[in-house]
Amino acid sequence: MFWALVSQGIPQQLLSKKKLGRGHEVVVVSPGAYYQWIPSNIWVGVGKMKIDQVRFKLQPVYDRWKIDFRQAKATAVYPEGDQSVNRPYIAIEYTNESRRGETDQVDYDYLVNATGPKLNFEATEGLGPNKFTHSVCSCDHAVATWKALQACFTRMEKGEKLRFLIGTGHPTATCQGAAFEYALNVAFEIKSRGLLNMADITWISNEYELGDFGMGGAFIKRGGYVTPTKVFSESIFAEYGIRWIKRAGVTRVEEGLAHYETLDGQLHTEPFDFAMLIPAFAGVGLKAFDKSGEDITPKLFAPSGFMKVDADYSGKAFEEWSVEDWPSVYQNPAYANIFATGIAFAPPHQISKPMKSPNGTLITPAPPRTGMPSGVTGKIVALNIVNQICTGNSGFKHRASMGKMGAACVVSAGFSLFKGNAATMTVFPIVPDWQRFPEWGRDINYTVGEAGLAGHWIKLFLHYMFIHKAKGYPFWWLLPE
Ligand SMILES: Cc1cc2nc3c(=O)[nH]c(=O)nc-3n(C[C@H](O)[C@H](O)[C@H](O)COP(=O)(O)OP(=O)(O)OC[C@H]3O[C@@H](n4cnc5c(N)ncnc54)[C@H](O)[C@@H]3O)c2cc1C
Repeated sequence: MFWALVSQGIPQQLLSKKKLGRGHEVVVVSPGAYYQWIPSNIWVGVGKMKIDQVRFKLQPVYDRWKIDFRQAKATAVYPEGDQSVNRPYIAIEYTNESRRGETDQVDYDYLVNATGPKLNFEATEGLGPNKFTHSVCSCDHAVATWKALQACFTRMEKGEKLRFLIGTGHPTATCQGAAFEYALNVAFEIKSRGLLNMADITWISNEYELGDFGMGGAFIKRGGYVTPTKVFSESIFAEYGIRWIKRAGVTRVEEGLAHYETLDGQLHTEPFDFAMLIPAFAGVGLKAFDKSGEDITPKLFAPSGFMKVDADYSGKAFEEWSVEDWPSVYQNPAYANIFATGIAFAPPHQISKPMKSPNGTLITPAPPRTGMPSGVTGKIVALNIVNQICTGNSGFKHRASMGKMGAACVVSAGFSLFKGNAATMTVFPIVPDWQRFPEWGRDINYTVGEAGLAGHWIKLFLHYMFIHKAKGYPFWWLLPE
């Protein structure tokens, strides 16, 4: 039996099932009834897409693929079984209507943890939906955010001048790219309604410089010259009328007011009428127990709650960091049949240089694990497990380190078929390798960026392509990660 704990990674589950055939079982545990294409939540958050354009029900897909789907959340891992069960298993708790709250066990030969992030709004007082800020991290959040944004448009149309605050809501938050996209889309929508003079739009971020994106920024080749992402990002913000606050860690939010500390140790506040701030991410809080029932959570998970894999967690100083610190097969060091992919794996350290204020507050983005590396890590783990099952060989045929792979990202800057805009960027590798590429940290021939209408069409095409792929429709396996 091959057991996968994946939700967004449907293509990897389908790939496993396709390759393994009927003789093996793939079980998927995920708490939601729906798959959602998260990047398009940005467009839900500005009213350009409806919720059902970015999500679909999981059960029919798994029925078609004969995959055992449990709508449940995993709560604990028992990698050695327990006193009465001699096989490894996970404890789950059902979340569907008919079995809500019921607990169960699912045993496995292989376990893939792809649980993504816990959106850790609680790490910042007053942050998040139902408190004082909005979010686009899930499609439900994005629907509520769009409702609030519409109310702002109405107020501005009546002559009120409003303040918009968009960015990161914790000193170590990541996912700057999503917040950046949302800021540009909000500015685009405000401008298209002729309301730009009624809006004061501010970007707030824990990045040392704009365009850091949690990957230490990048030098990109663009129209024949090389420019840092700092200049690229500042130019786009200038064009869209967005002012920025950088090196800022938001520590508390109250109604209409964000409190933040800057790297120089100063404490500030920023008033707002509408705020969308990305929370810190943490692991989803799985526990682990050995056969005797002893809590072995720290053996499997880092303090952040993300799962330990084949990375270097020795806590080296920044000067000693190397791309070799990054994992390549995503195998847990304590249990060879457990893997973690996408955001669920614990990175060895940040990619951006860690910076502390004189008060000791770490104000630095955590390392992002965007869609492409999440998809690629899921794919190679699935292929390696299939290979181990089919050959009986415990080696790894496929490797994918973020220090050796590239990534592409299309940053939406306005949704419109003829007036839309998006910045298309590729970096290679994701984690800069100053030894291999001493001049720019990355291969400048593959680290490129361009902005324009074509980028919007690409982003729209990717939306339909990835939903087609996730549904397992014809030729889905030919589509890239
Ligand atoms: C608004 C937004 C826009 C983005 N845009 C882009 C973009 O344009 N390009 C890009 O490359 N990346 C983008 N990203 C990042 C991208 O969405 C993530 O990199 C990707 O979704 C990570 O995949 P994952 O499978 O690791 O986690 P997720 O996609 O979060 O999937 C994790 C799954 O695990 C499930 N789960 C949670 N807890 C449990 C549990 N206890 N038991 C079982 N299952 C559980 C969750 O319900 C979820 O279905 C964006 C992110 C956001 C928030």
